[in-house]
Amino acid sequence: MENMTPKIKDIYKQVISRNPGEVEFHQAVAEVLESLGQVIEKYPEYADHKIIERICEPERQIIFRVPWADDKGNIHINRGFRVEFNSALGPYKGGLRFHESVYLGIIKFLGFEQIFKNALTGLPIGGGKGGSDFNPKGRSDDEIMRFCQSFMTELYRHIGEYTDVPAGDIGVGGREVGYMFGQYKRITNRYEAGVLTGKGLSWGGSLVRTEATGYGAVYFVNEMLKTRNDSLAGKTCSVSGSGNVAIYTTEKINQLGGKVVTLSDSNGYIYDEDGIDLELVKNLKEIERRRIKDYCQYRKNAVYKQGGNIWEIPCEVAMPSATQNELNLADAEILVKNGLIAVGEGANMPTTPDGARFFLNNNVLFGPGKAANAGGVATSALEMQQNASRDSWTFEYTEERLQDIMKNIHNSCYEQAEEFGCPGNYITGANIAGFRKVADAMISLGLI
Ligand code: NDP
Repeated sequence: MENMTPKIKDIYKQVISRNPGEVEFHQAVAEVLESLGQVIEKYPEYADHKIIERICEPERQIIFRVPWADDKGNIHINRGFRVEFNSALGPYKGGLRFHESVYLGIIKFLGFEQIFKNALTGLPIGGGKGGSDFNPKGRSDDEIMRFCQSFMTELYRHIGEYTDVPAGDIGVGGREVGYMFGQYKRITNRYEAGVLTGKGLSWGGSLVRTEATGYGAVYFVNEMLKTRNDSLAGKTCSVSGSGNVAIYTTEKINQLGGKVVTLSDSNGYIYDEDGIDLELVKNLKEIERRRIKDYCQYRKNAVYKQGGNIWEIPCEVAMPSATQNELNLADAEILVKNGLIAVGEGANMPTTPDGARFFLNNNVLFGPGKAANAGGVATSALEMQQNASRDSWTFEYTEERLQDIMKNIHNSCYEQAEEFGCPGNYITGANIAGFRKVADAMISLGLI
């Protein structure tokens, strides 16, 4: 809060009192508001139109019951969420998270970040997010299907290709999107491909969507390194997580000549000094759905550390790609001491605010999630474009589009940071660039 102007501090206090207990949401709002003092001074119309107050209040929040039966016939009740945060730039767009930690505060933090991220892509998409406190770990395919069908049986009435277009996030990948799309189609009697993204390739999905978040984050880091006449080639990199984002971050780093030496899950991390064998990881995680520790059964030089701190492994580039607040100030200090030069956030808000400040103060290039991981949603928007024109693009063409988008996002963050007197601060740059696009649209659309 110390970096907020008095006027913005008042708005932030209101946000806290109107949304009690939602600490992740407060954190996400604080990070954006800290960047906006100078913007409000330079463009007073944003204050006149109460844009910040309006942007912090979701347009609509939906909470619903999700009943389902497990394989033994036991009945379970979960809670479903969809927060439709802002549709000034296009239909609400953002993923669904299935994880036991999900509650309204998590969905609102993710939805809030999504507004600015989606604006940064330059594509016509608003911001939203959803999910459930359902824990998919250890559940059979049939149980996952029944849960997804029950979830969609309520969600279907709130979404649509021109209204709200969900996708995946933690715990939601191609399998889950398939079951949800099937149920949507069945209930509505419409083959409305553009209602969900992250679909399978034979039924409306886009090439590169699976790879997009990880690939995009690596492109973003490479663009940051270019500003210092450097690149990923030859760099030792640490990636956390072992899901969709972590896997394709690793793949692109390898392609650009870097070496990834770690991956993790919520139980521990693996360290392979020879470089991660990605085909092995894909087989374990994507096909067999096993835990990351099993990697060490096949790679004798690799070690697994149960409950260990992944950030103790020395690296030049760190790409936190698991979950929020997984990298704190103490971790940042260790990383910098060990020679870190760049961070690219594959996950949403993985670095705590004091950790991020420490990186900036120590001249580390820092790519915040809302810019660095925007490649996923950008490619989802490309999937929507292909669905709308009933077309499908080649891998090469789609990846080229993704690369261009990431370059543009990098450049607009870089330029806004310069314009507002904090060169090289991509956090401020991303917040201002995203905010201004949404704010200008909101003013044009009148008081709605
Ligand atoms: P996945 O479900 O595919 O993978 C998540 C990975 O993170 C798993 O390895 C999981 O381990 C680990 N993880 C999750 N929660 C925790 C935790 N509390 N502590 C430690 N590890 C944890 O999700 P994604 O790869 O899709 O998402 C990862 C991050 O990237 C999230 O922050 C997400 O919001 C963000 N993101 C994803 C996008 C996408 O396109 N998929 C787009 C933009 C951002 P375990 O199996 O033990 O739970």
